[in-house]
Amino acid sequence: MNENDNRHLYHFEQFTLENYKKLLEIAKSNFNFIFFEDFNSRTKKSIILRHDLEFSPLLALEMAKIEYEIGVKSTTFVNLHSEYYNTFEKKTYKILETLLEFGNRIGLHFDAHFYGIENENDLTYYLIREKKILQELFNVEIKTFSFHNTNPFLLQFDDEEYSGLLNVYAPKFFKEIGYGADSTGYWRYENLFERLQNNKDDVLQILIHDGMWQKEVLSPRQRIFKVIDDNAAMLKKYYDTTLKVFGAINIDWDRIV
Ligand SMILES: [Zn+2]
Repeated sequence: MNENDNRHLYHFEQFTLENYKKLLEIAKSNFNFIFFEDFNSRTKKSIILRHDLEFSPLLALEMAKIEYEIGVKSTTFVNLHSEYYNTFEKKTYKILETLLEFGNRIGLHFDAHFYGIENENDLTYYLIREKKILQELFNVEIKTFSFHNTNPFLLQFDDEEYSGLLNVYAPKFFKEIGYGADSTGYWRYENLFERLQNNKDDVLQILIHDGMWQKEVLSPRQRIFKVIDDNAAMLKKYYDTTLKVFGAINIDWDRIV
């Protein structure tokens, strides 16, 4: 096998759920896991674990189970305009409730592109609206937000707080501390396994994207395609089951179920 192929270059092997567990175990041996809100009162070496809920609530649940088992906490940022899941549908809603029961927190994953935000007034207006929706939906206080699909324009909004929400891209959480992210399925900043093993950071934020960690070794693109295919299969099953439950006939080309 060629050592310069993508599999090696982008460490496909590392992005499995089994290795996610290993990553957390390495982290837990040297760090205390805290929430963004605890940042100023931290006393030990700390990690803020952040999930931007992007592709698969089911995989987010798998990861939350691993975290619960190990005894670490995280914040999951929920996008109300995702193309991949619907926060209001029962299965996603139940998963997010379970995450809260595990002692994790929910933040707002804010899609500024949905509104075409042009200035700070727009930003604060829509942040308040979405914060209220999430708070009422889950009956919890929402204290943090993260931008979805950041770009240089959005990163200009680097105050610590907007609309009463802590901004995870404020310098104190982002530029001034260690930062590790698996965005689009590879270690964009530094290989996090190596960074945690080196143990040089005093505090760092880790950003994880659910669909990028699977049971099997896949390329990043195929990891997301698997999420999409699994979801399609699940929806087909849901259609058949629903018709059965309600006693409706399910007509196909050559048979009637
Ligand atoms: Zn996002």
